[in-house]
Amino acid sequence: MLAAEWHGAKSIKVNSRPKVLVTDPDDVVLKVTSTCICGSDLHLYLGVMPGMHSGMSLGHEFMGIVESKGPNVKNVKAGDRVVSSFDIACGQCFFCEKGSYSACDTTNNSEVEGMLYGHKTAGFHGYSDLTGGWEGGQAEFARVPFGDMNLLKVPDNLTDDEVVLLSDVLPTAWHACELGFVGDGDIVAIWGAGPVGMLAAHCAKARGAARVILIDNVADRLSFAQAKIPGLEVIDFGKEKTLDALKRMTEHGPDVCIEAVGFHYCKTMLSRIQMALKLETDPSEILNELIYSCRKAGRISIVGVYSGFTNGLNIGAFMEKGLCMRAGQTPVQKYWHALLKMIQEKKLDPTIVITHHMPLAEATRGYKIFNDKKEENGALVQKVV
Ligand code: NAD
Ligand code: ZN
Repeated sequence: MLAAEWHGAKSIKVNSRPKVLVTDPDDVVLKVTSTCICGSDLHLYLGVMPGMHSGMSLGHEFMGIVESKGPNVKNVKAGDRVVSSFDIACGQCFFCEKGSYSACDTTNNSEVEGMLYGHKTAGFHGYSDLTGGWEGGQAEFARVPFGDMNLLKVPDNLTDDEVVLLSDVLPTAWHACELGFVGDGDIVAIWGAGPVGMLAAHCAKARGAARVILIDNVADRLSFAQAKIPGLEVIDFGKEKTLDALKRMTEHGPDVCIEAVGFHYCKTMLSRIQMALKLETDPSEILNELIYSCRKAGRISIVGVYSGFTNGLNIGAFMEKGLCMRAGQTPVQKYWHALLKMIQEKKLDPTIVITHHMPLAEATRGYKIFNDKKEENGALVQKVV
């Protein structure tokens, strides 16, 4: 089967490799129909995530048709159309029973992550060995462990574009709002106008936020988001400093500040290993902006990925302002039934972020233009499926 593989920083190749098979009684194998490139894949693309090895398969956002399944799988059958979650949950451990699927204790056997952080996340598809080294879904076929837990059946009257983002970025955008308790009348500021930040703005509006302010320095991403989300306000921090703009635009500061950027955009971008070793790095520059601009007793939500230690986080300002800060990888399975219903009821439309479609064979180009945020002819790239 063909699959997108990582062969070093900025080196993605589509190669033929052995077809994945059902190897465990709980497995499901899908014929993949749609798969996306995520901001989290850029950590791999840029080579800042350890635990990568040449030839690793990529992709954690995908959907398809069930081709075969192990004898324990009860919820899906051959021919069903399903979306896969990016995180792999067993459904039975202490954390899964609490609905904290992204903290599943049994699907990530990486010793290194345990050593670095004293804990392990759930396993992720197509990511580094730090998250279990599972095969990815940017491929013709994908193996989904614990199929009963990690697949969502989707109705035929919805297109792939309408449902494929249930695998990650739509639940992540919703999770960002949940972590920040976004509700009626809130002023919400969101750092990062990528697919996650833009969908977080869409979700915040759906949850009754009074004002939503999206922040980036890619002007085309900001105007694209404004065209799709009525009433959205924006800050281009290339033109005005984020802190100055938020002071000008809000009397007391936003009620909720959402981080949808991630560590690899921080100016002192160093590898996760270097950070873990506390080498001269300060990826807290963006997080401090959230702390300084959030209103007193406000809420901070972090879904952008931060890996390793930060040295310069202003915990003093955080404490004195009485802020609440919550963060995390998304427990996709916790939200996806409700979000599917909202898509069917036209309360949410995840397709607003999709700008590009291409065949798997063009994945190399897909990664390049998604990282560049534009094509060679200058056209905006927001989300590639
Ligand atoms: P993306 O790279 O397309 O978007 C990030 C945006 O942030 C870019 O447009 C960039 O220009 C902007 N940015 C850079 N510096 C900034 C700054 N100082 N202030 C404001 N904006 C700035 O990525 P994405 O797909 O939208 O994902 C965003 C983040 O969410 C990534 O870190 C990704 O790993 C993470 N993520 C987390 C989860 C989760 O479960 N928590 C799931 C999916 C993605
Ligand atoms: Zn993703």
